[in-house]
Amino acid sequence: MEGRSHLLIGLTAGVILDSVVHLTGSPLLGATGITLGLIVNKAIYYTMVGFGALLPDIDNARSTLGHKLGWVSKEIQHLAGHRTLFHSLLGLAIGSLMAPGLEQLITYLLAQRGYTLPAQFISASHLVFFAVLFGCIMHIAADAMTEGGVPLLWPNRKRFGFPPNPHWRFRTGTWPEFVIVWSFMILVGVGIYMSIIVV
Ligand SMILES: [Zn+2]
Repeated sequence: MEGRSHLLIGLTAGVILDSVVHLTGSPLLGATGITLGLIVNKAIYYTMVGFGALLPDIDNARSTLGHKLGWVSKEIQHLAGHRTLFHSLLGLAIGSLMAPGLEQLITYLLAQRGYTLPAQFISASHLVFFAVLFGCIMHIAADAMTEGGVPLLWPNRKRFGFPPNPHWRFRTGTWPEFVIVWSFMILVGVGIYMSIIVV
Protein backbone atom coordinates (compact mmCIF):
# COMPACT_ATOMS: atom_id res chain seq x y z
CA MET A 1 0.00 0.00 0.00
CA GLU A 2 1.22 3.54 -0.71
CA GLY A 3 2.68 5.70 2.07
CA ARG A 4 -0.07 8.29 1.66
CA SER A 5 -2.77 5.61 2.13
CA HIS A 6 -1.00 4.27 5.23
CA LEU A 7 -0.84 7.76 6.69
CA LEU A 8 -4.54 8.45 6.05
CA ILE A 9 -5.71 5.06 7.39
CA GLY A 10 -3.42 5.29 10.45
CA LEU A 11 -4.54 8.80 11.39
CA THR A 12 -8.23 8.02 10.82
CA ALA A 13 -7.97 4.86 12.95
CA GLY A 14 -6.06 6.97 15.50
CA VAL A 15 -9.10 9.24 15.80
CA ILE A 16 -11.27 6.19 16.56
CA LEU A 17 -8.81 4.79 19.12
CA ASP A 18 -8.50 8.12 20.92
CA SER A 19 -12.26 8.62 20.97
CA VAL A 20 -12.70 5.18 22.56
CA VAL A 21 -9.86 5.00 25.11
CA HIS A 22 -9.02 8.74 25.46
CA LEU A 23 -5.25 8.23 25.36
CA THR A 24 -4.62 11.95 24.97
CA GLY A 25 -7.17 13.18 27.50
CA SER A 26 -10.64 14.59 26.91
CA PRO A 27 -11.78 15.18 23.31
CA LEU A 28 -11.35 18.68 21.84
CA LEU A 29 -14.93 18.76 20.57
CA GLY A 30 -17.17 19.73 23.46
CA ALA A 31 -14.24 20.01 25.89
CA THR A 32 -14.79 22.80 28.38
CA GLY A 33 -11.23 23.62 29.37
CA ILE A 34 -8.82 23.17 26.48
CA THR A 35 -5.37 23.34 28.05
CA LEU A 36 -2.00 23.65 26.35
CA GLY A 37 -1.10 20.22 27.79
CA LEU A 38 -4.09 18.66 26.05
CA ILE A 39 -3.12 20.17 22.68
CA VAL A 40 0.52 19.11 23.11
CA ASN A 41 -0.65 15.55 23.93
CA LYS A 42 -2.81 15.43 20.80
CA ALA A 43 0.02 16.78 18.66
CA ILE A 44 2.47 14.17 20.01
CA TYR A 45 -0.11 11.41 19.60
CA TYR A 46 -1.05 12.12 15.97
CA THR A 47 2.55 12.77 14.89
CA MET A 48 3.60 9.45 16.38
CA VAL A 49 0.62 7.50 14.98
CA GLY A 50 1.57 8.91 11.56
CA PHE A 51 5.21 7.92 12.09
CA GLY A 52 4.16 4.42 13.21
CA ALA A 53 1.89 4.06 10.18
CA LEU A 54 4.91 4.60 7.90
CA LEU A 55 7.52 2.79 10.03
CA PRO A 56 7.13 -0.84 8.83
CA ASP A 57 8.04 0.27 5.28
CA ILE A 58 11.48 1.22 6.57
CA ASP A 59 12.38 -2.09 4.87
CA ASN A 60 11.54 -0.64 1.45
CA ALA A 61 14.00 1.95 0.07
CA ARG A 62 11.37 3.12 -2.42
CA SER A 63 8.71 3.85 0.23
CA THR A 64 7.85 7.29 1.65
CA LEU A 65 9.98 6.70 4.76
CA GLY A 66 12.64 4.79 2.79
CA HIS A 67 13.23 7.84 0.55
CA LYS A 68 13.85 9.99 3.62
CA LEU A 69 16.25 7.53 5.24
CA GLY A 70 18.26 6.79 2.10
CA TRP A 71 21.07 4.30 2.74
CA VAL A 72 19.62 3.14 6.10
CA SER A 73 16.55 1.75 4.32
CA LYS A 74 18.65 0.34 1.47
CA GLU A 75 20.74 -1.58 4.03
CA ILE A 76 17.64 -2.90 5.86
CA GLN A 77 16.00 -3.94 2.60
CA HIS A 78 19.21 -5.65 1.54
CA LEU A 79 19.58 -7.52 4.86
CA ALA A 80 15.96 -8.38 5.68
CA GLY A 81 13.99 -7.90 2.43
CA HIS A 82 10.71 -6.03 2.00
CA ARG A 83 7.74 -7.25 4.08
CA THR A 84 9.63 -9.57 6.42
CA LEU A 85 10.51 -8.83 10.08
CA PHE A 86 9.00 -5.32 9.97
CA HIS A 87 5.60 -6.66 8.89
CA SER A 88 5.40 -9.49 11.47
CA LEU A 89 4.21 -10.17 15.03
CA LEU A 90 7.83 -10.90 15.98
CA GLY A 91 8.80 -7.40 14.81
CA LEU A 92 6.00 -5.85 16.88
CA ALA A 93 7.08 -7.89 19.93
CA ILE A 94 10.77 -6.93 19.58
CA GLY A 95 9.82 -3.27 19.14
CA SER A 96 7.54 -3.40 22.20
CA LEU A 97 10.27 -5.03 24.29
CA MET A 98 12.86 -2.47 23.20
CA ALA A 99 10.65 0.55 23.93
CA PRO A 100 10.66 0.43 27.78
CA GLY A 101 14.40 -0.29 27.69
CA LEU A 102 14.98 2.73 25.47
CA GLU A 103 12.84 4.85 27.76
CA GLN A 104 14.84 3.71 30.82
CA LEU A 105 18.16 4.28 29.05
CA ILE A 106 17.24 7.87 28.18
CA THR A 107 15.95 8.46 31.72
CA TYR A 108 19.17 6.97 33.19
CA LEU A 109 21.50 8.96 30.92
CA LEU A 110 19.70 12.20 31.69
CA ALA A 111 19.64 11.47 35.44
CA GLN A 112 23.40 10.82 35.37
CA ARG A 113 23.93 14.28 33.96
CA GLY A 114 21.88 15.72 36.78
CA TYR A 115 18.63 16.18 34.90
CA THR A 116 15.76 14.83 36.92
CA LEU A 117 12.89 14.16 34.64
CA PRO A 118 9.47 15.56 35.24
CA ALA A 119 6.77 12.90 35.52
CA GLN A 120 5.21 14.48 32.43
CA PHE A 121 8.09 13.27 30.26
CA ILE A 122 7.55 9.68 31.41
CA SER A 123 3.82 9.76 30.66
CA ALA A 124 4.48 11.44 27.30
CA SER A 125 6.92 8.66 26.40
CA HIS A 126 4.21 6.05 27.13
CA LEU A 127 1.91 7.98 24.81
CA VAL A 128 4.63 7.93 22.13
CA PHE A 129 5.02 4.16 22.53
CA PHE A 130 1.29 3.37 22.26
CA ALA A 131 0.86 5.74 19.31
CA VAL A 132 3.79 4.27 17.33
CA LEU A 133 2.69 0.70 18.12
CA PHE A 134 -0.88 1.44 17.03
CA GLY A 135 0.36 3.07 13.80
CA CYS A 136 2.47 -0.03 13.03
CA ILE A 137 -0.47 -2.39 13.69
CA MET A 138 -2.69 -0.36 11.34
CA HIS A 139 0.05 -0.44 8.69
CA ILE A 140 0.29 -4.23 8.83
CA ALA A 141 -3.53 -4.58 8.85
CA ALA A 142 -3.78 -2.35 5.76
CA ASP A 143 -1.02 -4.25 3.92
CA ALA A 144 -2.93 -7.48 4.67
CA MET A 145 -5.62 -6.26 2.26
CA THR A 146 -3.16 -6.13 -0.64
CA GLU A 147 -2.44 -9.05 -3.00
CA GLY A 148 0.94 -9.78 -1.42
CA GLY A 149 -0.42 -10.17 2.14
CA VAL A 150 1.82 -10.00 5.23
CA PRO A 151 4.14 -12.62 6.79
CA LEU A 152 2.61 -12.32 10.27
CA LEU A 153 4.49 -15.37 11.58
CA TRP A 154 7.86 -14.44 10.01
CA PRO A 155 10.47 -16.14 9.90
CA ASN A 156 7.76 -18.51 8.60
CA ARG A 157 7.22 -17.32 5.03
CA LYS A 158 3.48 -17.94 4.91
CA ARG A 159 1.64 -14.75 3.93
CA PHE A 160 -1.66 -13.83 5.57
CA GLY A 161 -4.30 -11.52 4.20
CA PHE A 162 -7.86 -10.38 4.31
CA PRO A 163 -9.96 -11.62 2.54
CA PRO A 164 -8.03 -14.93 2.77
CA ASN A 165 -8.22 -15.52 -1.00
CA PRO A 166 -5.50 -13.30 -2.59
CA HIS A 167 -7.57 -12.93 -5.77
CA TRP A 168 -10.08 -10.88 -3.81
CA ARG A 169 -7.41 -8.50 -2.55
CA PHE A 170 -6.04 -5.54 -4.51
CA ARG A 171 -2.68 -4.59 -5.94
CA THR A 172 -0.87 -1.63 -4.29
CA GLY A 173 -1.57 1.68 -6.01
CA THR A 174 -4.69 0.55 -7.92
CA TRP A 175 -8.19 2.06 -7.63
CA PRO A 176 -9.57 -0.23 -4.87
CA GLU A 177 -6.87 1.13 -2.55
CA PHE A 178 -8.15 4.65 -3.19
CA VAL A 179 -11.78 3.55 -2.67
CA ILE A 180 -11.02 1.69 0.60
CA VAL A 181 -9.00 4.56 2.09
CA TRP A 182 -11.61 7.20 1.24
CA SER A 183 -14.62 5.06 2.26
CA PHE A 184 -12.97 4.45 5.62
CA MET A 185 -12.31 8.18 6.14
CA ILE A 186 -15.84 9.16 5.08
CA LEU A 187 -17.41 6.50 7.37
CA VAL A 188 -15.39 7.72 10.36
CA GLY A 189 -16.20 11.35 9.46
CA VAL A 190 -19.92 10.52 9.33
CA GLY A 191 -19.60 8.63 12.64
CA ILE A 192 -18.03 11.66 14.33
CA TYR A 193 -20.65 13.99 12.81
CA MET A 194 -23.49 11.74 14.01
CA SER A 195 -22.04 11.51 17.52
CA ILE A 196 -21.88 15.33 17.72
CA ILE A 197 -25.50 15.63 16.54
CA VAL A 198 -26.66 13.04 19.08
CA VAL A 199 -24.82 14.76 21.92
ZN1 LIG B 1 4.14 -2.15 4.25
